[in-house]
Amino acid sequence: MYLEKLNPQQRMAVEHGTLTDGNHIAGPLLVIAGAGSGKTNTLAHRVAHLIVKGADPRRILLMTFSRRAAAEMARRVERICRDVLGANAGVMADALSWSGTFHGIGARLLRDYAQQIGLDPDFTIHDREDSADLMNLIRHDLGFSKTESRFPTKGTCLAIYSRAVNSETALDLVLRDAFPWCATWEKQLRELFACYVEAKQTQNVLDYDDLLLYWAQMVGEAVIAEDIGSRFDHVLVDEYQDTNRLQASILLALKPEGRGLTVVGDDAQSIYSFRAATVRNILDFPAAFSPAANIVTLDRNYRSTQPILAAANAVIDLASERFTKNLWTERQSSERPRLVTVRDEAEQARYIADKVLDNREEGLKLKQQAVLFRASHHSGPLEVELTRRNIPFVKFGGLKFLDSAHVKDMLATLRFAQNPRDRVAGFRLMQILPGVGPSTAQKALDLMAEDVSPLSALAAMPAPPRSGEDWTSFVSMLQEMKSGKAGWPAEIGLVREWYAPHLERLHEDAATRQADLLQLEQIASGYASRERFLTELTLDPPDATSDQAGVPLLDDDYLILSTIHSAKGQEWTRVFILNVVDGCIPNDLAVGTTAEIEEERRLLYVAMTRARDGLDLVVPQRFFTYGQNSQGDRHVYASRSRFIPATLLQFFEACSWPQVKSDAAAQAQARQVRIDVGARMRGMWR
Ligand code: ATP
Ligand code: MG
Repeated sequence: MYLEKLNPQQRMAVEHGTLTDGNHIAGPLLVIAGAGSGKTNTLAHRVAHLIVKGADPRRILLMTFSRRAAAEMARRVERICRDVLGANAGVMADALSWSGTFHGIGARLLRDYAQQIGLDPDFTIHDREDSADLMNLIRHDLGFSKTESRFPTKGTCLAIYSRAVNSETALDLVLRDAFPWCATWEKQLRELFACYVEAKQTQNVLDYDDLLLYWAQMVGEAVIAEDIGSRFDHVLVDEYQDTNRLQASILLALKPEGRGLTVVGDDAQSIYSFRAATVRNILDFPAAFSPAANIVTLDRNYRSTQPILAAANAVIDLASERFTKNLWTERQSSERPRLVTVRDEAEQARYIADKVLDNREEGLKLKQQAVLFRASHHSGPLEVELTRRNIPFVKFGGLKFLDSAHVKDMLATLRFAQNPRDRVAGFRLMQILPGVGPSTAQKALDLMAEDVSPLSALAAMPAPPRSGEDWTSFVSMLQEMKSGKAGWPAEIGLVREWYAPHLERLHEDAATRQADLLQLEQIASGYASRERFLTELTLDPPDATSDQAGVPLLDDDYLILSTIHSAKGQEWTRVFILNVVDGCIPNDLAVGTTAEIEEERRLLYVAMTRARDGLDLVVPQRFFTYGQNSQGDRHVYASRSRFIPATLLQFFEACSWPQVKSDAAAQAQARQVRIDVGARMRGMWR
């Protein structure tokens, strides 16, 4: 019986409010506990248990912060349902249709209620880069980039805007506290932001922040809040410590008395304050729903061995503020986590490649091992080393694939077909055509903007002089998409066909890029509709890179490379943490305030608690920094992260690598490289 596998506290959380009556309208429940104590597991069991007890899976809303965590959650619910419910499980779990990220669910609800709140349901969503592009267009239109010397860049403008919106703070205060060097432009920035908001509205686009803002606004209207709230008997939230004030206010609006509301989280893992997330949400939960709130704490860790847990506990014990208690585990082991000193990042990469292969030799799959790092670019040398040695890997938390121009072109086409008022998409697309520059594109977009039917306006326009046929085929492709005849996902083929000659013309490596587009098509065909695909993709892109980076086929075995942020909620048998040095963790960019340093400490805690059986912290004595000083890029000498002071060394096994490498060993390694290259060349012709 599935409930028997749980410990008494977990079971209490799972069964909360489901025993007494058939309606399952339980009071508000907060599960607060440390890493690996089974929070997500408990939440998944609770969903399954609710369904067993008769709750309608279509009336359960399940949300978390990142898409990876949301997918993991759905997977666990499905597995438990299958165990518990047998044959019917698939149907049941499929029916759990309201499961996803806050942003994703927000987008769906906004489309559903669009008419009621004066929003065109065909709105498209701008990712950060699109938003910066739009900001830039307006910055130019207003002439600030010319008249004001050293006016903030588009990225800075967007950062200021986003900060003000997310923290609900007035512009002058944001400038004073966070962007003092921009304070002289307050007047211009105010005008810029006003135009930016207006532009988004006329173009029918929402940016990330808008998804939450509009959602919060929408449920500020009591009738709508009640309507949405009554669609869901249960609302469950994982990783609650990552939510911001807006998200908490949304939950409160949906479930004012907290009935049917379950949230789980860990204050020691709060690592998203740069997106205005706040642990206060967890801490204030009991008061917000007083006296009805029920609190369950979990203190047994099931993930890590005792030595790993002891080290992680020791690191977080030094935190200045903390609410959850230390965890204990029954998983004994004689292996302490290792603190490995290496000469530099190249050596670090070799160390990891060696160890990863050793582990594989011993029967551990690559997939059960992960390498974690503070910033996406830290894995550069390792990626090169892995590629050189033919060790397949995937990287989470980097956006290589979707950042590439051709993939963006393809997505822009789909977006423009969806919403011809999306200027950023249109501006990008039109300039793909030969003979169309920024001013022609602007003019065309202006004409489209004035018309009730933008596509007809486009079709009625004379083709620009030097782009006759290309223009016509562009317009007819859009019209065909609009007609919906091809259907989804077949219509992507239309786009690819239209785009192929441009790809050839624009890029020397068209063949590789074509392969990326096929991969994109593959990913897209997994979604039910164009709209769903675009929404999901813009919100949280899947991880994929060009085949050249050594990315394996989907079911192959591969090593995981991930930023610590993206590793949230996951676990691996063996974990390596890169660059455990001051400057990387804590990061140079985040040592301004005590609060920032504390967040960096929690990041290290999150990273360490991902490990089940083995944990290596690697400390290179030199590392590379990107032009952070006037001399540009350079190597700096590093010291062990301040989060592992001498008093904590007893928790680790200290070693350096390699001990002393003999000439013979170095030569053998060089020979090995030549052999590998030869094998690859021959392989090309088989
Ligand atoms: P994080 O804070 O990292 O998100 P978590 O608290 O959500 O962690 P889970 O991921 O749910 O923890 O669980 C950690 C591991 O412990 C998983 O492998 C899970 O299967 C296992 N586990 C949880 N509860 C139990 C239990 N009662 N018996 C055995 N294993 C358990
Ligand atoms: Mg979890």
